[in-house]
Amino acid sequence: MTLEVIRDRVAMRARAEDLRRDGRTICVVPTMGFLHDGHLSLLRAGRGKADVLIMTLFVNPTQFGPNEDLDRYPRDEAGDLAKARECGVDIAFCPDDMYPEGYQTHVRVSELSKPLCGAARPGHFDGVASVVTKLFHVTKPHVAVFGEKDFQQLALLRRMVEDLDFGIDIVGMPIVREADGLALSSRNKYLSGDERKQALCLSQGLAASRAAFDAGERNAEALLATAREVMDGAPLGTIDYLELRDARSLEEVSQVTAPAVMATAVFFGKTRLIDNTQLTPPSE
Ligand code: AMP
Repeated sequence: MTLEVIRDRVAMRARAEDLRRDGRTICVVPTMGFLHDGHLSLLRAGRGKADVLIMTLFVNPTQFGPNEDLDRYPRDEAGDLAKARECGVDIAFCPDDMYPEGYQTHVRVSELSKPLCGAARPGHFDGVASVVTKLFHVTKPHVAVFGEKDFQQLALLRRMVEDLDFGIDIVGMPIVREADGLALSSRNKYLSGDERKQALCLSQGLAASRAAFDAGERNAEALLATAREVMDGAPLGTIDYLELRDARSLEEVSQVTAPAVMATAVFFGKTRLIDNTQLTPPSE
């Protein structure tokens, strides 16, 4: 099977229009590249959801802060295209640029973009919502697949699609982890050997909390304390946040009575890792 690579956004839009005119359904999987098994799980899921599978590969500058890792963000386009081909991707949209001269329009999902990663990374989610809007306009999908690893991003994009009548089915896929529990991330390659070992504090802290939840604990402070105790055992890590929030509204909760998410971000040096676990009370 051949993989078509399109680099120009006007050409991509015309191609998507043709596909729709021919009655083909389209699924898109947006990525920033340097693909790992987490991305590949999205592509494999996407393969079964429409006639045509499009992967986008764009390191979007507007979602990086001035002191973040845009310049050193890992890239491997040739490797990514080979992996995409293996997963049955039909079209790789790899734009050199997404923004016309004079660009000044932004999409903001006002409340969902405030807490958690939004508090630590001002403007990040405006960048995400805006570029995903553009990628949707250009690739014209019926279905789009995102990872639960970026839980807040997924919640916010679901809200955006509903609020602005995009008419796109948003599919969330579970977090793919290393055998020892570390959530796969393009940023894991920045970690030193010792940092990599201690990075397990995220998944292990969340797992401890989940075990307490499964044993019946519903109090947020107690659940957070359980996770924090584990995470404090990693001296190279600095917790950016560790919070328990409603899974849909992302409002803080004091007791888990509805689906909730415990989410965390931890710095190892300049590298910021995120992870989360969903705590869903069994329905009575
Ligand atoms: P990124 O390239 O980091 O922008 O990620 C592209 C997509 O892959 C997003 O929808 C992410 O949530 C998803 N993703 C990243 N890491 C993982 C993972 N470990 N498991 C599942 N999905 C992931």
